[in-house]
This record gives sequence, C-alpha cells and structure tokens, in this order.
Amino acid sequence: MNPSPYPHLMSPLDLGFTTLRNRVVMGSMHTGLEDRARDTDRLAEYFAERARGGVGLIITGGYAPNRTGWLLPFAAQMISPADARRHRRITSAVHDADGRILLQILHAGRYAFHPFSVGASPIKAPTNPFRPRTLRDVEKTIDDFVRSAVLARQAGYDGVEIMGSEGYLLNQFLAPRTNKRTDDWGGTPEKRRRLPVEIVRRTRAAVGPDFVICYRLSMADYVEDGQSWEEVVALATEVQAAGATIINTGIGWHEARVPTIVTSVPNSAFVEISSALAEFVDIPVMASNRINMPQSAEQVLAETGVRLISMARPFLADPDWVHKAAAGAADEINTCIACNQACLDHAFVHKTVSCLLNPRAGHETTLTLGPTRHSRSVAVVGAGPAGLAAAVTAAQRGHRVTLFDSRPVIGGQFDLARRIPGKEEFSETLRYFTRMLDKHGVEVRLDTHAGLDLLRGYDEVVLATGVAPRMPDIPGIDHPMVLSYAEALAGEPVGEAVAVVGAGGIGFDVSEFLTVDRSPTLDLKEWRAEWGALNPHEAPEVRGSLTAALPAAATRRVYLLQRTKGPQGRRLGKTTGWVHRASLRAKGVEQLSGVNYERIDDDGLHISFGPGHSDPRLLEVDSVVICAGQEAVRDLEDGLRARDIIPHVIGGAAVAAELDAKRAIRQGTELAARL
Ligand code: FAD
Ligand code: NAP
Ligand code: SF4
Repeated sequence: MNPSPYPHLMSPLDLGFTTLRNRVVMGSMHTGLEDRARDTDRLAEYFAERARGGVGLIITGGYAPNRTGWLLPFAAQMISPADARRHRRITSAVHDADGRILLQILHAGRYAFHPFSVGASPIKAPTNPFRPRTLRDVEKTIDDFVRSAVLARQAGYDGVEIMGSEGYLLNQFLAPRTNKRTDDWGGTPEKRRRLPVEIVRRTRAAVGPDFVICYRLSMADYVEDGQSWEEVVALATEVQAAGATIINTGIGWHEARVPTIVTSVPNSAFVEISSALAEFVDIPVMASNRINMPQSAEQVLAETGVRLISMARPFLADPDWVHKAAAGAADEINTCIACNQACLDHAFVHKTVSCLLNPRAGHETTLTLGPTRHSRSVAVVGAGPAGLAAAVTAAQRGHRVTLFDSRPVIGGQFDLARRIPGKEEFSETLRYFTRMLDKHGVEVRLDTHAGLDLLRGYDEVVLATGVAPRMPDIPGIDHPMVLSYAEALAGEPVGEAVAVVGAGGIGFDVSEFLTVDRSPTLDLKEWRAEWGALNPHEAPEVRGSLTAALPAAATRRVYLLQRTKGPQGRRLGKTTGWVHRASLRAKGVEQLSGVNYERIDDDGLHISFGPGHSDPRLLEVDSVVICAGQEAVRDLEDGLRARDIIPHVIGGAAVAAELDAKRAIRQGTELAARL
C-alpha cells in the first residue's frame, strides 16, 4: 500500500479512553434539521453520509440546555429523556459508519432571537432587537448544561462540545464588554471565567472520565472590550484542569466587524493563534476557520502545535472529503469556496442549510443520484455551472454525455467570477469539474459553438447556454470608453477613473476588481492590516485584538452607480454583503444612487438625479464598465423545437433574473437526477 500523502492528517488520535480514526473533525454547523423532531432521520442520514466518508469526529449543531438559551423560539434543545431517545437514531447511524459524534451545547445568551433572552448583563447585541435580562440563577444554568451533557451520554453521544465562543452566553460572561456584574460571576477576570470553568468541572464530574468534553474557546473576540490574551490563556489552562479533553478554536463574535469565514479571508488565517495557545496546554488543540483542503490541513498539523483540524462547510460541499484525501485523490474534492450562499445565508432566513456546490447536502434522503437503468446519449450545450453540474451528474449516473462550449475554457460566467479579488478559490470549483468530466468520461468539445446540426441524434438535449451582459440603451453606449463587465474582467484595458453602471453583485465585484491589487496572492499580513485584526498573542495587552484598520490605497478612482434610490448592495448575501460594502468604503468608491444616465461622450459619463433629472453632473472618467444585469441566451430553442427536439432549459438560459451559481448548479443536478 502507498504511504498516505497526508500522514499527520490521517493518523489516529488516542484520547486515553477512545481513539479518533484521524485528525479530521466536522465542526458544528446549524442545519435547521435540528429544530424539528420530524427531521431526525434526515439529520441522521446527513451525519451518516459524512461518517461513511471517513470523518474522524462530528460535532452537531448547537442544542440549547434550556429555553432561555434557545437561538430562536422552539429551537433545538437537549433537556429531556425524550430528546435523548430521539437522538439515538443519530448516534447509531454515525456509529454504524465507525464515526464518533459530539453534541454541541449552546446557550445563545443575548444572541437569542426571542423576548426571554438572558445575558451576563442587560446589554443588547447590535445584531439583535431583543434586550436580554440579567441572568440571575447562574447555578441553575450550570445544572442545565450538566443535564444536557448527561442526556447526551444517554443518547449515545461520544461526548459534548461546550460552546464558549462566537459571542454566545459563556463568551458574554468572559468579556468586560458584556459582563458588568459585581457578584461572584463578574468584576474580575477570575470571576468572569467562573461560569465556563464550573460548567466543565461539574460536567466532568457528572459524565465520568470516559466521555469527550470539547470546549470551544474564543481565542480572539475581535470586538472592543473583549478578552485579553492573558485571560484567554488562563481560561484554557483552567478548562483543562476542570476536565476538558479537547480545546476547539473560536474566532470572532457574530457582531465582530472582522470577517472570519468568507472567501476573502486568507486560508488558515487563524492557525497561528491556535498554535500559540497550544503551547500553554497539554490537551489537543483544534484549529478551525478557512481550512478547506488536505494539503493545508496537513501542513498545519506538521508545522504547528495544533493536533486536530475542524472543518465545517467543506463537508457540506463534499461528504467524501476524507476518503478522497486518504486515497491521494485530493483533486477530486469539491472544495468549499466559503461563499456562504446556501449554508449560512440559508440559516439566517430559516431555510434548511445546503451547499451551492452540492445541492444534496441536507437533502440526502430526497435528492438521490443512483445509477440509471437506461443509459442515454445526452448533449449539454454550455459549460457554465448549470451545464457542468448536469453533464457530470448525468455521466456519473451512467449516461453518455457530450458537453459543448463555444469558449476555449469551461466555467462560463463563473470563470469571470474567479478573477475577483477574494474569489480566487472559485478556481477550485473549475478544477473539480475538470477532473470530474474526465473521470466520468464526458466528451468535452470546447471552442465549439453548438448549432442545430451538431445537436441532431441525441436522446436528450440540455440547453445551459447561460446569460450575456445586458447593454442598456444609454446615448453614447457605443463610445470606445464603454466596456461590458465581461470585457473588463477578461483583461481589456480600463482607465484610471471609472464609472461602474449597475450596483448589483457584479457591480460590487467589478468595483473590487478595479480598486484592489491582490497580485500575486492574498497576503495574510495585508489582510490583517486591512481589517485591523491583530494576532492576540502578538498584542497580548490589547483587549479584543482590534486595532485601527489600514487598508491599502485604491488602485483606481471608481464611481458605483444605480438608478434605484437608497443604499446600494441591499440584495447581497446576508453574511457576506457587509464585507463587500465595507471593502468598497475602505477603497473610497463613491456610491451614487437614484441616478439617470444622460449620455456618454469624450468628457465622460453625464448623469442627473431623480425624476426631475436635477443636479446634472459630469463624471470625468476614462472608462465606463457596464454591470447592468444579464439577458438569457436562448437562440437555439426555437430551431430545436421546429425539429421536434424538446430541450431541457436550465440555469441562466431558463431565467436570467436573480441568477446565481447556486440556482444554476441545483437545476443542473436536479435535471440530471431525473434523466
Ligand atoms: P453561464 O455561466 O453563462 O454559462 C453558459 C455557457 O454557455 C457559457 O460558457 C457560454 O460560452 C456557453 N454557450 C452559450 N451558447 C452556446 C452555444 N450555442 N454553444 C456552445 N456554448 C454556448 N454567482 C454566485 O452564485 N456567487 C458569486 O459569488 C458569483 N459571483 C459572480 C461574479 C462575477 C463577476 C460574475 C460575472 C458572475 C458571478 N456569479 C456568481 C454568477 C454566476 O457565475 C452565474 O450565475 C452562473 O455562471 C450562471 O451559470 P449558467 O451555467 O446558467 O450560465
Ligand atoms: P443584479 O444584481 O440584478 O444587478 C443589476 C444592476 O444593474 C442593478 O444594480 C440595476 O440597478 C442595474 N440595471 C438593471 N437594468 C439596467 C438598465 N437597463 N440600465 C442601467 N442599469 C440597469 O445583477 P448582476 O449584478 O448582474 O448579478 C447577476 C447575478 O449574479 C445576481 O443575481 C447575483 O445573485 C449573482 N452574483 C452574486 C454575487 C455574490 O457575491 N453572491 C456576486 C456577483 C453576482 P438599477 O435598476 O437600480 O439601476
Ligand atoms: Fe461552502 Fe458555499 Fe457550499 Fe457553504 S454554500 S458549504 S460556503 S461552497
């Protein structure tokens, strides 16, 4: 047998009373399936699929220890023997697949989205309309945590994770920002630490020695008046002494204005912090956040004091991540691109969490992709996300697939998206699809415009011809200074001063592209400076690890324009939009709304405002980049129908409005599941 390409990652970890089969942990993620008893079997299958894929240890989404700790009204909880009985279906499914699983106990504190919330002190979170009451009966809360852990043991869990980070209740007790108490639970760092330490100590006493207690510890709060490094280290040593088995890394509160998991955060950005903490404790420290591929995970384990790697979203994107890595087939991993579009953004609107790249995630029991009984010949026109998903899935099921694209490369619009600074990892998706097309024997015909003649003789024809940029009817639109976003991103020369017409997702991305110089790669030091995020161990005296942000100067002067009145970027993703808005503010992009485009001429772009076309203004720009939405490309459909070929139309070709890669990939996958 060949030696593993990732010897550290694949080596077992002996915890004394149990052994994890490798160093890969699927971190806690709330899927929405936790909240209703009727979804228990779906949740069990979701976890079992990841355990079958080889994950060493799984941590569930957060379960509240009592009702005040609910994240939302009637959210997931572990408070009764009936809850524990129901969870046996989950733990058995994971154990049957040789996996291990911990239940996460999470008390939301002031992040609870209901009127009965409690906090260390009655201080409202900036992200929540509900003001918490002061938590009076702290002893009872400790008992509730312990009860949840005991019930988790009865339910067959291998242990619990106590959620002490991200600004939830325990983290709120730890930080002077939110803990103004003068009783036994506040006033000094020691007293602020008492609640989490007591919870660990009493949980250990109740569950016995042979049960994992993982403590998720906030190593950098990234909020003002957060913890100091000295306090973080003291907490780590105290939870170890109290009986914790593992310390997991938490970075940033939910209200922090430092991004911690979006695509633009450099890979392994916070590993140094976990490694610095590992020097102070003997129990394993687990790193997390923005680790998504085995090469980097292996490097972390080989070069730092970290002993476990937690990844959450990468297992939504690819449940077989571990098996592929172990088999030396990392190029077959469908790499999470940290877009948040189908996971966190769904969680925020109470939709079941899934994945932009893998629409089966969270839908394992309904979206099945077994082999077909009738192999057919399938022509797929368009190698954008919709066509790629359809072609690969159909071929994987046993169909004979030919994929056409008129461009010399695959990806369609997604090939443009990956050129945006901070979206470099989108290239991984194209690497994945390239590999899958080859693996599943798809005949790929690039540089080939599929006309009607080429599409004769197939059993099925799929039109995934996507979209083309819309060029609005502005006087002077044919002026040489005007480019479409596709031309600008493809490398056509763009001047020093630029007007971007259209402030949707693409207008924001193009403004970033025009103002940011990220060549050759994303630099961690620059990124920290841009967001004012310190390494806490390098600035131990700074509470909350924040400093003044020092973004690099913009590379161009950019105006971002829209006709609609009001703030721009309202339709950007819930969990990512604020990052894009903050980036453009930092680059001095001038955002103008309620604009009329009067004309384009040698002087630049002439605009006015409002229905009365008032306040005429000349934007003296060298280039105008059009990001005014898209139109569907459906030129083949009528001809096909005239020849009695009824095509399947998916992705942007079906509906251009509000198109994104999430819809395109989902439609491609669902169609191929039906063929
Ligand atoms: P397309 O991507 O348009 O692909 C259609 C393909 O069909 C093209 O390659 C075209 O060459 C080919 N084609 C057309 N006609 C023919 C023919 N007759 N013969 C052969 N080939 C043909 N989406 C997100 O979800 N998240 C993001 O963060 C994101 N960022 C973006 C950033 C930018 C800058 C851009 C431009 C887009 C971004 N998108 C993003 C949008 C996403 O890329 C599109 O929604 C997605 O690519 C649409 O997929 P599609 O397969 O329907 O069409
Ligand atoms: P979009 O979000 O619909 O924005 C189009 C913009 O063009 C709007 O600002 C619109 O604003 C303007 N516009 C529309 N018609 C116009 C006209 N005739 N003349 C002048 N302006 C006009 O579309 P997009 O930016 O092209 O993005 C396409 C899709 O890609 C989006 O649906 C998005 O989901 C996806 N995408 C997602 C991300 C992401 O980060 N998640 C990033 C990029 C793209 P006014 O009408 O107010 O002028
Ligand atoms: Fe990763 Fe995006 Fe999938 Fe979420 S939706 S798991 S961030 S690729």
